[in-house]
Amino acid sequence: MAKATSWSKPVTKALRADGVKVSDLNTSATPGFKGDKKAGEALLAERAGVLSDLQEKLYANGRSGDTRSVLLVLQGMDTAGKGGIVRHVIGSVDPQGVDHAAFGVPTPEEKKHHYLWRIRRKLPRGGQIGVFDRSHYEDVLVVRVHDLVPPDVWEKRYDEINRFERKLVDDGTVVVKVAMFVSLDEQKKRLQQRLDRADKYWKFNPNDIDERAFWPQYQEAYQAVLDRTNTDHAPWYVLPCDSKWYSRLAITELLIDALQGLKLDWPEANFDVDEQKKRLVRA
Ligand code: AMP
Ligand code: MG
Repeated sequence: MAKATSWSKPVTKALRADGVKVSDLNTSATPGFKGDKKAGEALLAERAGVLSDLQEKLYANGRSGDTRSVLLVLQGMDTAGKGGIVRHVIGSVDPQGVDHAAFGVPTPEEKKHHYLWRIRRKLPRGGQIGVFDRSHYEDVLVVRVHDLVPPDVWEKRYDEINRFERKLVDDGTVVVKVAMFVSLDEQKKRLQQRLDRADKYWKFNPNDIDERAFWPQYQEAYQAVLDRTNTDHAPWYVLPCDSKWYSRLAITELLIDALQGLKLDWPEANFDVDEQKKRLVRA
């Protein structure tokens, strides 16, 4: 049976973005984890239960008026495995306690507003784990790479995002930002699978192939994100994602860490327990 000691250091330390160079990343590494796939999967099964229990406590507190929440921000190129995280990690907790949002090309309505408008509308409510599949960071990633706004416009967004997240954290949301990286080769394999398997066609977008030509520009844009928005209040974690088992385990651990940091207890009864027990006997 795998033990928690399969980690040589806490995942928050192993993945923290401080000083990371995106172009030097080994996307098939499993930072901080000593075991193999089998050990990782066994541990994940166990840790999913821990995550689920903590999430239930968060939800219970939210129902009792606690306004705190957790926001998991998933950023990554196509095929990095964002959807798999939602399905396999978030899928292990009670859906009632999850506020999920995916951000694609802005709709005509969204385009009329500031880029943070659609983000604010999807922030998690008290007691919820919010999950962003892509996020406000697209507005300094795809937008920067494809010149969708002039440089002086996206340039100001890094500081603006830091201020936005500062406020979010001050208002009681723990922000966990995960930048998910696969190699160019691994992406090709995954795109190939999407073309080879009828059950994966739905994930394929011909534009994903065009985007591969912009890989260096995306790396540069991701580097700027890590350099400029890796704050103490909302740190970035850099996740190598060639091994799906590792990325799922690592995000499970990051969420466990975030929830444990809230030091949650079960909410106190807002009624007299003994009195209610007596009433129930007579009912
Ligand atoms: P997917 O996550 O595969 O459904 O793809 C969503 C697409 O929407 C990706 O190509 C993103 O780059 C794109 N996208 C997300 N946010 C924005 C944005 N603010 N401006 C332009 N494109 C965006
Ligand atoms: Mg896609």
